[in-house]
Amino acid sequence: MSLSKNGIKVSILLSAFNTSVKIGRIMPPRTVLWEATRRCDFRCVHCGAYDGKNSEIDEIDTAKIKQIIEELENIGVKYFFATGGEPFLRDDLMKMMSFAKSIGLKTGISSNGFHIKDEHFEQIKKYVDTMQISVDGIGKTHDDFRNKKGSFEAATNALRRIKENGKTRICMTTTISDYNFDEINELYELSKNISHGWRVVATMPIGRAKNNKKLFLSKEKMNELLLFIEKNSTKKNPIFICENLGYLGRMEKLRKGEFFFCGAGILSCCIGADGNVRGCPELPAEKRFIEGDLDKDSFAYVWENGFSKFRENKLIPPQCFSCKYFGPCRGGCHVMQLENMHCSVKRFDL
Ligand code: SF4
Ligand code: SF4
Repeated sequence: MSLSKNGIKVSILLSAFNTSVKIGRIMPPRTVLWEATRRCDFRCVHCGAYDGKNSEIDEIDTAKIKQIIEELENIGVKYFFATGGEPFLRDDLMKMMSFAKSIGLKTGISSNGFHIKDEHFEQIKKYVDTMQISVDGIGKTHDDFRNKKGSFEAATNALRRIKENGKTRICMTTTISDYNFDEINELYELSKNISHGWRVVATMPIGRAKNNKKLFLSKEKMNELLLFIEKNSTKKNPIFICENLGYLGRMEKLRKGEFFFCGAGILSCCIGADGNVRGCPELPAEKRFIEGDLDKDSFAYVWENGFSKFRENKLIPPQCFSCKYFGPCRGGCHVMQLENMHCSVKRFDL
């Protein structure tokens, strides 16, 4: 088994976590993502949300999420990050960011940028430490992909204005696919002007994306993308590689200053829109992935008593245990595992 630098970092992390479990003082997650809502008025080609079910969800109310945020701070969580659906469709989003920040949490939001209004920009500067806004193509490519006219302009304006505030770290994220592959150069140039970094993401095989082959990169294109990153990414204008692209074998060196590790159930977890708790926001809100319910139990109780499938390696495909990359990779992304797309080393010959 490889004892690469990444492997050593991962094993130190896991051994600290396992020790905390043994002595009965389980380490809190570093990051908690809050799926603020599953509502969204976009109809993106790659969306992992399930059509038709989003509006039926009984979302946790302001008082409850406030109480949860307080508990997160009490148990030692560091980062509170709102995602969706589209989080700006919740009227209390900024109130919750302000509250989280006021009690010492670091805050973040992931958004499509379309519903960020003038009054939000000052609030973002005050209350939000990091933001991610998606741009999935230049102009019409983005609007068509997101099925929303004017969405490219809204996203790029929001990125520009947030960068100008001088406080919030802002990152432009792009799901790379056949729809925008010819534009990666322009997208990177754009990111240099309107954000502090460009984050490339793979499509997840869930929701609407599952049966659309154009969304998943071929071996040739993935290798082209990695060469592009190797050639262009700099300290000033970094290109970040999302964990969902998996462990990259010989190209793992491109994750400069970062390393592959899926923190689900160990370093991070997600609070679903209705108060369910899951390992990761991209894992479907189905019984098999729900670790607890914050309507019934405290967050600390769910964190301490759930997540055995992540902590006891029950999700890792059996063939991974004998792989030379098992140490740093540990079976790749759990969402990619759902469709047997987790092994980037094999899929892309890395
Ligand atoms: S076989 Fe499993 S452990 Fe090995 S590189 Fe592929 S996903 Fe990772
Ligand atoms: S399951 Fe995949 S997307 Fe979720 S935290 Fe792990 S690597 Fe990231």
